[in-house]
Amino acid sequence: MKNVIKNSSKQNTFSLPKGKWLKDFRQKLLAWYAEHARILPWRGTTDPYKVWVSEIMLQQTTTAAVEGYYYRFLERFPNPQTLAEAEDSEVLRYWEGLGYYRRAVQLHRAAKVIVSEHNGQFPDACDKILALPGVGRYTAGAISSIAYHQRTPILEANTIRLHARLLAYPDDPTKSVGNKLLWQMAELVLPEQNNNTQNHGRNEPNTQYGIFNQALMDLGSMVCVPKSPDCFNCPVVKLCQTALKGLQDAIPALKKEQNFEERSEAALVIEKNGKYLMMRYPEGVRWAGLWDFPRHVVLSEKPLEYDTDFCLAIQRMIGYKIAILSPLTTIRHSVTRFKITLNAYFAETLEKCSKSEYEIQWVKEKDLAKLALNTTGRKITKLCKL
Ligand code: SF4
Repeated sequence: MKNVIKNSSKQNTFSLPKGKWLKDFRQKLLAWYAEHARILPWRGTTDPYKVWVSEIMLQQTTTAAVEGYYYRFLERFPNPQTLAEAEDSEVLRYWEGLGYYRRAVQLHRAAKVIVSEHNGQFPDACDKILALPGVGRYTAGAISSIAYHQRTPILEANTIRLHARLLAYPDDPTKSVGNKLLWQMAELVLPEQNNNTQNHGRNEPNTQYGIFNQALMDLGSMVCVPKSPDCFNCPVVKLCQTALKGLQDAIPALKKEQNFEERSEAALVIEKNGKYLMMRYPEGVRWAGLWDFPRHVVLSEKPLEYDTDFCLAIQRMIGYKIAILSPLTTIRHSVTRFKITLNAYFAETLEKCSKSEYEIQWVKEKDLAKLALNTTGRKITKLCKL
């Protein structure tokens, strides 16, 4: 049988849909999308640079959080040239608060590649897009289909869930067997020809493949939601194996919950002559390229002033001996698998004792606004009324 894939864990086989199912699915999805397409700032463009910026910003970030950043970023960096010519620190400043800062670093690197290797023109071949720093198969597929009208599939959180349910795939769809199956499904469902005669949705370009991919994502994010999918209002309910079998609560199979690790860290607000000692995270560590108040993990339960490991670690980072003065505030936040309790203290520097391992700068209060800080660093600047 054509299009059969083995599920190695249970030796199940799945027949991917074909013929009438595909025809019905495409028709129903596009008809639904014509009525329900989300209106998003990046939906009205086929400019590959803008599509790329939006797709990178949207990775692991909600559309609501991205909107403001998208406009501000494009206003300052309207094309690959302006982005490539900018300083790292300025790019990070425009990304500040959006999180996952490595995305901004990779975006900046990729803009330099576009300028140096592609004459400033965004490449149109999918393999060349895929070769850009920070671009994976999903992003390359989205740019190719939306900006260049190519028949390239996409698979991200919403479409993984949607396709897994359409097929009633019982195992973890993010593991290699499931992932391979769903990529096949994502390619199979795309229309066979690029039909440029219809304009689905409001303010949409005529790109059938791009529109189709966006329709899949919208159905996944608006109707086939993680908990309690709205099957009653789903345009493809009669084609959905999960709905037919009543397995909505079981599919997709949930990944094991991530085990968070509690962690304690401390940050020091060190002021001298109206300037604040700031350090910059080097390459290869969390928040690379961003500035922060001197900060390190705390392993001891002793009061911080008696924690020699912490004080020595800070000393190596900034090149000064320090004295802890008084507590300022506590901030709780999460980074990847860590749930962090960050205690901020006022402190002072004593004598200089070595070359600092990190880049440091004494920064005037008014200039702190120009530095790209991590979110907690920015909060501290406000909380201590610098
Ligand atoms: S019928 Fe329900 S489970 Fe199936 S795709 Fe639609 S919303 Fe998702």
